[in-house]
Amino acid sequence: MNESLVKSRAFINGQWVKTDKRFRVDDPFSQELIVEVSDCGEKEAHAAIDAAHAAFQSWSKTTAQERSNKLLAWYDLIIKNLDDLAEILTTEQGKPLKEAKGEIQYGANYIKWFAEEALRVDGDIIPSPDGNQQIHVIKKPVGVVGIITPWNFPQAMIARKVAPALAAGCTVVIKPAAETPLSALAMAELAQQAGIPDGVINLVPTSEASVIGEALTSSFKVRKISFTGSTKVGKILMSQAAENVQRVTMELGGNAPFIVFEDADIDSAVDGIMASKFRNSGQTCVCANRVFIHESIYHEIVDKLVNKVEALQTGSGLEDDVSITPLINQAGIDKVKRLVQSAKDGGAKVLIGGELSDKHNQIFEPTIMTDVQFDMDIACEEIFGPVLSLIPFSSEESVVEQANATKAGLAAYVYTDDRHRIKRLSEQIESGMIGFNEGIISNHMAPFGGVKESGMGREGSKYGISDYLDIKYLCIN
Ligand code: NAP
Repeated sequence: MNESLVKSRAFINGQWVKTDKRFRVDDPFSQELIVEVSDCGEKEAHAAIDAAHAAFQSWSKTTAQERSNKLLAWYDLIIKNLDDLAEILTTEQGKPLKEAKGEIQYGANYIKWFAEEALRVDGDIIPSPDGNQQIHVIKKPVGVVGIITPWNFPQAMIARKVAPALAAGCTVVIKPAAETPLSALAMAELAQQAGIPDGVINLVPTSEASVIGEALTSSFKVRKISFTGSTKVGKILMSQAAENVQRVTMELGGNAPFIVFEDADIDSAVDGIMASKFRNSGQTCVCANRVFIHESIYHEIVDKLVNKVEALQTGSGLEDDVSITPLINQAGIDKVKRLVQSAKDGGAKVLIGGELSDKHNQIFEPTIMTDVQFDMDIACEEIFGPVLSLIPFSSEESVVEQANATKAGLAAYVYTDDRHRIKRLSEQIESGMIGFNEGIISNHMAPFGGVKESGMGREGSKYGISDYLDIKYLCIN
């Protein structure tokens, strides 16, 4: 690992800040300490907010071209250091190195994309009802943005927010997840090397998330909260943000249905299920949580899935050919165990896996469960582990009803060869994103985000920057 990128202090106003308290960051595979990191509290949070607020006064006045150039310089350094960043990510988060490299590239793509979008924040001139007036519309950065992110994509979830924020002219205070602050800190180091001015990016790692959350939401200097994480914490932050009427972007939990119709290309559907479910050992917000398979092809698909799942290798993310790695922590393991047990108690069957690996106490064996009912806990909660839960269905009408029978609405997947069905389901499925005959849908050029309790706002695409801009109307006589 490139030690110069392994930072252990908070990053405030361009300085690496030591705190009295520190907290451990452990490698989930070796379960050994990687490094102890500065544990920020209210004092550091307010110092970071003040720094971001002061920096906003100048950063927001830079030209779009200057901001674009800085973001491109940051992008170039991330790509230059991609292998080292991926190793840091795998060491703190556990995911296979190949996936970590994919995440670094994926996150970097947002930085390049928004460097380009910075140049396209156009205004409008609108016809006026009064001949003496002109209606002008200009766009202004919202101000300081508080960013709170999860551990499952510790680099990309930050890049997806910081890039549009900086492109728009905002400055940021970031609270990374306690399990994975190192990827975030390494990104801050590269941002500084890229010449992004002091105070524009501030980073406050902490073991006391709610203290930082309250500092960010209680300060009027912070004009927006951009959060990715669970729906439960999203609701807390939304209610706190209401106090100062801060704008919010909420990328929250999912419960993706993955529907395979009888007319689908079966091999491609099986590949789609495998890619969607087992990436990051099932710890993704868009991964297939409920796999609905038409009863006429159910057994054929189950047999093919068993062959594929049996071939998955478990182990350390740093080993070649390993695709299932440790879950992030004990709470994650306990949740997967509880959901599998309650499904078994309800009559579901474990075809393969179903328990912890005998090789490692944090690796859950890749699992297939059949005869799952759509109203069991395992189909109503995010599993966040490598467990496929398979539900047979008989009609399009019933499966759409079951797919929509959830408060979540992030991603959905449909495999079918019928273009009329694609058109119908595009309208009927209640979800922010739908993959038709595709199991991996996220990229920087598409608008990522959910409906219902999966949140609000969009990240990526031409829509992503508007979450960081206020519209200002000028009536000119
Ligand atoms: P989480 O428990 O909600 O934590 C997310 C972040 O919020 C972490 O940084 C956490 O800090 C912080 N946090 C926790 N309580 C807080 C509070 N009271 N005030 C302020 N911050 C607080 O979620 P997670 O378990 O890390 O991540 C998994 C969840 O994220 C899943 O539900 C997944 O679906 C969702 N997710 C959604 C998307 C999307 O784009 N929609 C993408 C990825 C993940 P600590 O780390 O210190 O607890």
